[in-house]
Amino acid sequence: MSGGVTVTFWGVRGSTPCAGARYARYGGNTSCVSLDADGHQPMVFDLGTGLREYGDAVTARFSAELAANRFTTPYLATALLTHLHWDHIIGLPFFTPAFRPDAHLDVYGPQQPGGLEATFTGVMHKPYFPITPSQMGGKIRFVDTTAEDFAVNGAKVRARWVRHTDPTLGYRVDLEGVSIAYLSDHGPGCCPSDPDDFVPDDVLELCDGADLVIHDSQHTASEFEVKRHFGHCTVGYAVHVAREAGARNLALFHHCPTHTDEDLDRILDGARDLAAKTGGPDVLAAREGMRLDVSPR
Ligand SMILES: [Zn+2]
Ligand SMILES: [Zn+2]
Repeated sequence: MSGGVTVTFWGVRGSTPCAGARYARYGGNTSCVSLDADGHQPMVFDLGTGLREYGDAVTARFSAELAANRFTTPYLATALLTHLHWDHIIGLPFFTPAFRPDAHLDVYGPQQPGGLEATFTGVMHKPYFPITPSQMGGKIRFVDTTAEDFAVNGAKVRARWVRHTDPTLGYRVDLEGVSIAYLSDHGPGCCPSDPDDFVPDDVLELCDGADLVIHDSQHTASEFEVKRHFGHCTVGYAVHVAREAGARNLALFHHCPTHTDEDLDRILDGARDLAAKTGGPDVLAAREGMRLDVSPR
């Protein structure tokens, strides 16, 4: 990697993990995307089941350093958590780097009435799970976050509320001259008074001229008619948001577990047609294991 940011998709599925031959190419793990840039600590969007595999990759990297007797730096990382739905948190107990005593993971996530740490621990303790986050071994620090801008190890982070069924943040990270927006779960149907094509200012602010927008694309137009209250959007709306914001590239993300590889191929073709006809961004469909080197313009 020389300059820019490497974006790696570890989990791209929405709602629930799924497995089987029908999902072989796009993958069945839930939301988790890592950002790596030279000279910066790693960042990760969301803690879905994809986090387990990301942890294995991190551990393998450190194992090589250990074998070469160059293992001196503690594991430090930052997670930007959009919200507390199961598909976005279930990977944390299986994130092996966080079991190292020298690990320090900061988890920024939506402010909760009783505090983010207490709320997260409310579902990660007996009898739901044998240990709590504080018993994992490393230091996990939860940071209650609202609509605000802050700095993390040389990255500028912008958090804004987005429309979903429960309090949910979208993020924008500006790092090494590259801007990446992440809105995993964004549902216009959650605000029935909003026209379907309305894009809130906060969303435009996150995606404004971004090099890459990673956006919810859970439904086709016909599915949305009966599922508009689920808190997700159509593929066409994702294209619309990226175009309105003047973004360069759009990654369709949070794929519905009912969509097979063939369905997603068709959905991607349709999204590319729409973007081409409307002056929209370059569109790709996020796939598990996909790695994008995003360079400054
Ligand atoms: Zn979700
Ligand atoms: Zn959700």
